[in-house]
Amino acid sequence: MARSRLFSPTMTKFQLILLVSVFLMLVGNQQFFSNITKVYPLDWSTAPFIASIAVVFTAALVLLLSLVCFGRSTRPILILLLMLSSFAAYFMDSYNVVIDADMLNNVVHTNVDEAGDLFSWRLVAYVVLMGILPSLFVLRVRIEPVPFKKELLSSAKMFGGSLALAAVLIVSLGNYYASFFREHKILRYYANPTFYIYSTIKFAGRYVETAPRAFASIGDDAHIPPEDQDRELVIMVVGETARADHFSLNGYKRDTNPFLEKEENLVNFSNFWSCGTSTQVSVPCMFSELDRDHYSEEKADSTSNALDVLAKSGANVLWLDNNSSSKGVADRVEYHSYKSSDTNPECSGEECRDTGMLTGLDDYIRNHPKGDIFIVLHQMGNHGPAYYKRYPKEFERYTPVCKTSQLEECSQEEIINAYDNAILYTDYFLDQVIDVLKRYTPQFETAMFYLSDHGESLGEYDVYLHGLPYMIAPDEQKHVPAVMWFGSSYDSVNIDKLRQHKDDRLSQDNVFHTILGMLEVRTDVYKPKLDILSSSLAPEDWQEKSASNAQPKE
Ligand SMILES: [Zn+2]
Repeated sequence: MARSRLFSPTMTKFQLILLVSVFLMLVGNQQFFSNITKVYPLDWSTAPFIASIAVVFTAALVLLLSLVCFGRSTRPILILLLMLSSFAAYFMDSYNVVIDADMLNNVVHTNVDEAGDLFSWRLVAYVVLMGILPSLFVLRVRIEPVPFKKELLSSAKMFGGSLALAAVLIVSLGNYYASFFREHKILRYYANPTFYIYSTIKFAGRYVETAPRAFASIGDDAHIPPEDQDRELVIMVVGETARADHFSLNGYKRDTNPFLEKEENLVNFSNFWSCGTSTQVSVPCMFSELDRDHYSEEKADSTSNALDVLAKSGANVLWLDNNSSSKGVADRVEYHSYKSSDTNPECSGEECRDTGMLTGLDDYIRNHPKGDIFIVLHQMGNHGPAYYKRYPKEFERYTPVCKTSQLEECSQEEIINAYDNAILYTDYFLDQVIDVLKRYTPQFETAMFYLSDHGESLGEYDVYLHGLPYMIAPDEQKHVPAVMWFGSSYDSVNIDKLRQHKDDRLSQDNVFHTILGMLEVRTDVYKPKLDILSSSLAPEDWQEKSASNAQPKE
């Protein structure tokens, strides 16, 4: 097929790679350079260094492409790179997120509904202007055909040339680069596309390295001691994206917990910290026996978790999910999704309410006449960025609200208003859970444990959403609300004594042992000093527990 010469210019492979690399560097790195100039304010002395960074990162990309672009592979690789980079640039520019291996893991595990919330016309504009249009150009270009030997030689030149150029610049601006690489590691996380390429290799490596592990069964000795004749009914609510400092129980200036504030027998833990900054990390981690320092997804996935051990003790375990999934935690127990109107009676459009999960509980409890009952309700909670979708109209107390997923189009006040309305709805939902439990008191020893998986950034330091690497994530993404409520029949806890420890530093490392403690399960894997409730037994136990407890682990 003859192509018109006008629309299909001829280039060498090197020219095309260089053109694409320079294009990506200049157009796709707004966030990268904005973060660099925060650390190295632009003036006459820093300008050569900042310009050199653009050259060094372009050279790194050319170097990388010289290794993978051969013959027919050149065009598809460049097009894939342009398309992916346009998405990466959109999310980095809009939410100040970084695309590390954990973020890729979140993306892989995100379902279509969640992804739908992230759609915006601005995203379309990024993809068209930075992805599709340049890709069409790459498709039209005529790449000068050269014999293989010659191509190999030119790739070697490309590789050597870019390496030499980068080395010369780094050495000649040595002082700047020393601080750039050592003290300001984080800045590199924003480089598009080099950092996400690095993350992809790292992410893929996790799967290549780990041959399927044998499942490690722990807590096989779990049992309820014969003297414990009472049946426990415990509901654990796993919250979503709620941050501690937006709970009035923790002193927030707005009255966001009007229902919970009125409950007696409630203990609010004000100093509770998450294991990760995403659902994908925090949810499996909190149910795992591993602490944050030793947690890995592979290990948690292939070892019995708190729910498995409860089931071994003879308890009836149920997981209801109005979020994306249990992230593997409920793989071996009864599980029902409440994400559609097939199961959840409280859906309108695509949104199903957390309160819908309560509708089948009476049947479940009636149908399980023996043994303890432990139910997890996995909320939709404050899942962003579309906070305004997360509550029914009557909970819209704070206005005006941000009514789009494009947070950059809203004022911070509008974003926070929508977010706080969703907290109000969670407050109502938790009170509904307590109402269910009250109906089963004193028939059961009843208790509720509410805990959010991670927090959320709402524009502090220009950061939005969550999922930043734990090391650099602000406290807003890690400090989570945690609340317990006990029915009057739940006599194995002294609430007044427990309240004396409500401000102690606790973390999701405590959850595994606390759940086992709440149901009075005996097993060798249970560590009383990590069980939050054991503090209500004797002060010296608590001292021991607090001392060994999770300090911020960076
Ligand atoms: Zn989450």
